[in-house]
Amino acid sequence: MTIDIETTGRGQFAAVRATLSEDFATQTARLQQLTAASDSAEAHNRAAMLTATRQNLDQISGALRRIADGTYGACVQCGSAIPPERLEILPHAQHCVPCKEKHHG
Ligand SMILES: [Zn+2]
Repeated sequence: MTIDIETTGRGQFAAVRATLSEDFATQTARLQQLTAASDSAEAHNRAAMLTATRQNLDQISGALRRIADGTYGACVQCGSAIPPERLEILPHAQHCVPCKEKHHG
C-alpha cells in the first residue's frame, strides 16, 4: 500500500480509509470472538487480548475521524506532519516519531 500525502481531492486517503475500515471490521470480529469465548484456561490471555483489541479499535476509529475532519497525517501532540513512510507502516499513527519516543521515555 502506498500513501500519497501530496494527492488532493476526493480520492485523498481513500486507500488508507479502506485499510482502516478493513482493520476496524477485523478487530470488531475479534472482539466479538473474544467476548463470546468461554475457555477459562485462556481467560488471562483473553483479557489482555480484549484490552489490546479495544485499544486498536480506538486508534483506528480515531484515525478515521481525523481523515474525516482533515487532520489525518498531523501529529496530535505537536501538529508536525507524520512521515508518509511511518503512516504506511502504521496507518493509525497519531504521533510523529519524536513525540512517540518522548511518550515512551
Ligand atoms: Zn509530534
